[in-house]
Amino acid sequence: MTEEEYDVVVVGSGAAGMTAALTAAHLDLRAVVVESAAKFGGSTARSGGGLWMPGPEAATYLKHVAGDEVSPARRDALLEHGPTVLNFVRKHTPLRFMRVPGYPDYHPEAPGGLAEGRTVEPRPLPVRRTGKDLEDLAEPYQAAPNGMAVTALDYRWLSLGLRHPRAALTVARLTAGRLTGRKLTMGQALAAGLRAGLRAAGVPVLLGTPMTALVTDGGRVTGIRCGDRTLTARRGVVLTAGGFEHNERLRRQHHGLGTTGTVGAPTNVGTAIEAGQALGAAVDLMDEAWWGPALPLTGGPYFCLAERNLPGSLIVDGTGRRFVDEAAPYVDFVHTVLGRTGTGPHLPTWLVVDRTYRDRYLFAGRAPRTPLPRRWFDAGVAHRADTLDDLAARIGVPAEALRGTVERFNGFATTGRDEDFGRGDSAYDRYYGDPRQRPNPCLGPLLRPPFHAFALIPGDLGTKGGLRTDERARVLREDDTPIPGLYAAGNTSASVMGRGYAGAGATLGPALVFGYLAALDLAAD
Ligand SMILES: Cc1cc2nc3c(=O)[nH]c(=O)nc-3n(C[C@H](O)[C@H](O)[C@H](O)COP(=O)(O)OP(=O)(O)OC[C@H]3O[C@@H](n4cnc5c(N)ncnc54)[C@H](O)[C@@H]3O)c2cc1C
Repeated sequence: MTEEEYDVVVVGSGAAGMTAALTAAHLDLRAVVVESAAKFGGSTARSGGGLWMPGPEAATYLKHVAGDEVSPARRDALLEHGPTVLNFVRKHTPLRFMRVPGYPDYHPEAPGGLAEGRTVEPRPLPVRRTGKDLEDLAEPYQAAPNGMAVTALDYRWLSLGLRHPRAALTVARLTAGRLTGRKLTMGQALAAGLRAGLRAAGVPVLLGTPMTALVTDGGRVTGIRCGDRTLTARRGVVLTAGGFEHNERLRRQHHGLGTTGTVGAPTNVGTAIEAGQALGAAVDLMDEAWWGPALPLTGGPYFCLAERNLPGSLIVDGTGRRFVDEAAPYVDFVHTVLGRTGTGPHLPTWLVVDRTYRDRYLFAGRAPRTPLPRRWFDAGVAHRADTLDDLAARIGVPAEALRGTVERFNGFATTGRDEDFGRGDSAYDRYYGDPRQRPNPCLGPLLRPPFHAFALIPGDLGTKGGLRTDERARVLREDDTPIPGLYAAGNTSASVMGRGYAGAGATLGPALVFGYLAALDLAAD
């Protein structure tokens, strides 16, 4: 049995944890981060790295998105500290940020919503700024081809494949960019940049060191146990160990779904949430996740973004009929699939596209006009047919219904108005649409064979239910009193977004802010 002593022990090395530790260190507290995986970064390293962290001007909008399940004090804390936290990170790490121009709030037409958006992302980070920790950085969800430094903004244009000159220009710029040395982008940049900040501040990150239990003394949390090692925390413990997306038992219990659709970090199994519960902490939003439709590809789920917005595609359920605005924000889309918005559930779910769509756009990272892997067809994820009737037979939906759906949809494509579900009405839908498609960038007819159908399943970027916390990131009991010495942020805590999703970066933005606020409170304690 070994024992080590710190002021603050942080559990998990994602955005929330590393920000908490960085803040603690700069407030002269002795901090340590323990990480169960062999590499640091968690889902943060896998992510797009977008951050939604505006100031108080977003109050009306956030209230609308988060709803009544989130206290006004927490919403206000996010908005009050967001810009400060961004500055703090900029000051103490090599990270620099840039706006993602035109990436709308996910509900831009809602009260206070902005069509020009509020998302920022890391600027490409030269690897020389990250030092030797680079070899311990967790893998991205998808590596860009040929070591290109693809940003979230680039992805928008790349998805247009052969259809838009900016796609080709983006490829040319990214190719030329490789000559100036390797750079990290998106979540890779965010995680590596925060880690560089921790190294500069002298904060150790102990890899391969899972917290197994919390240690208490007289009702106060005084440390953690990692197997037979005890880490004492004089001020307190910050739980930032991600969600429970890869815990089959908890997923079945709270979501009625297993883990097959998640793209979150494999080591996010809910240990910290359960450890908090064992001490009497309350949990909220456990039936929620950062949902998004996914293609159940043979190598793992593929999270669909632009694929649903681009013209020449539509989505049906097992009846062969549409049931949703296909281009809706991903959380809302899956709420509808799961039957949480009044109709449904709408399973199975099929994305149907025609040849023009395949000839023009990137699809699940595959270039236009290139054949799709045989294994997708063998696994039943992809189906191809020369007629809609044949396609309907292959995926087991009524042929007449599918034909009627496509016919009606093609009419909407001509007029530019989706009279059934309003696809393309929102600035969010149009962001990932095709600007050259007139009159509606999200609506194109499905006319040319062969037609493809792709299976979609309810997927997620991680879970968003977890320990109840207050505006200081303190973990609360059922009666809303804090458990002394215990804090939580990121996906270990129930989200400040409630059941909604304000905009790109709405998980990472709050993760940084509440990690920061936990450390602030620990320093003041
Ligand atoms: C492909 C993808 C794209 C995404 N894009 C975006 C985006 O652009 N913007 C956005 O806001 N969100 C995005 N997300 C979601 C976002 O990445 C996560 O919500 C966020 O990273 C959660 O941060 P976190 O600090 O709570 O947890 P994580 O970053 O997941 O870190 C948690 C860490 O805790 C560790 N851990 C778990 N259990 C223990 C234990 N017992 N002891 C010690 N360590 C433990 C884990 O191994 C992990 O490293 C994306 C997610 C994915 C997968």
